[in-house]
Amino acid sequence: MNFSSRNKFFLLSFTSLFLLAGGALFFLSAGTKKQHDKTSEVHQPVLVIHGGAGNIKKGNYSKEQIARYEASLERVLNSGYRLLQKGVAAVDVVEVCVSLLENDSLFNAGKGAVLTAEGKAELDASIMDGKTRNAGAVASISSIKNPVQLARKVMDSSVHVFLIGAGAEVFAAEQGLEKVPNDYFITHRMKTKYQESKQNDPRGTVGAVALDKKGNLAAATSTGGMWGKRFGRAGDVPVIGAGTYADNRSCGVSCTGWGEFFIRNSVAFQVHARMFFGKQNLNLALLETLEEVKSLGGDGGVIAIDKDGNYSLQYNTSGMFRGAIGKDGKIEVKIWE
Ligand code: ASP
Repeated sequence: MNFSSRNKFFLLSFTSLFLLAGGALFFLSAGTKKQHDKTSEVHQPVLVIHGGAGNIKKGNYSKEQIARYEASLERVLNSGYRLLQKGVAAVDVVEVCVSLLENDSLFNAGKGAVLTAEGKAELDASIMDGKTRNAGAVASISSIKNPVQLARKVMDSSVHVFLIGAGAEVFAAEQGLEKVPNDYFITHRMKTKYQESKQNDPRGTVGAVALDKKGNLAAATSTGGMWGKRFGRAGDVPVIGAGTYADNRSCGVSCTGWGEFFIRNSVAFQVHARMFFGKQNLNLALLETLEEVKSLGGDGGVIAIDKDGNYSLQYNTSGMFRGAIGKDGKIEVKIWE
């Protein structure tokens, strides 16, 4: 190596060192910036749904039936998750998911609802936005195709939170919601069960909780109620704080189960309170709340997402139709353990 080539070599090495150091600095600063920006960073969306908890024994379902339930839950999860990925707000997504479940006659909400002692369908639903803590609920609905959409209208387009029966239906007409005859809700399966006066427990209330990209939580729940209920009976589902609750500071919650016990325990609000005031984590809050339900003689299930995107699906019945897409984007659909 002569003098000039040695010089060239040093010059080159120096330049590459300089570039390397500069590059390292650039990456380091980019990394720091990224960390620093975390507060404004978009959240990973999370979605959980349920199709009811109750006396759901494995032996009572054929392989085909199980596959149908699982396929339906998966379809709803994927539809809702796609919307969340596009940036659609949690409150819109839970409304869409619950509407899809209401339209699916497999579940006890909207079409396929259980019947009252008189053989009619009487539906309850509610929705809550965790960002504003606005809420809407309806009970004893007999001719509106998607009760959850009516609950949303009550939240957005009225000064009220809770409308029932005839008053709610008049409001629905004013809002231009789709009306159907009561027969639309009554499937052949439910009619037969009714005619056979079969005592059964086809709970199958539906619900959804979502965390959107902006970190907003929302929850919605819809049901036909309990089999053979008295007309005029409303369960926990339309009671904000019993069947549904959402607060961005803690969690979003949707319940299913023996409604009277869920009302008496303010289940959905209790989960929030355990987390927000009692500083419990999500799992513990759900498990201990369900213990309270059990201690009074009730049973059911609760699904929830906390503000950090953790989710929990708990129940103390023999099964619960449920599914989730977590922060990692992984889908899970289950009926039993
Ligand atoms: N909680 C509903 C009700 O009592 C029923 C259910 O979830 O299965 O109306």
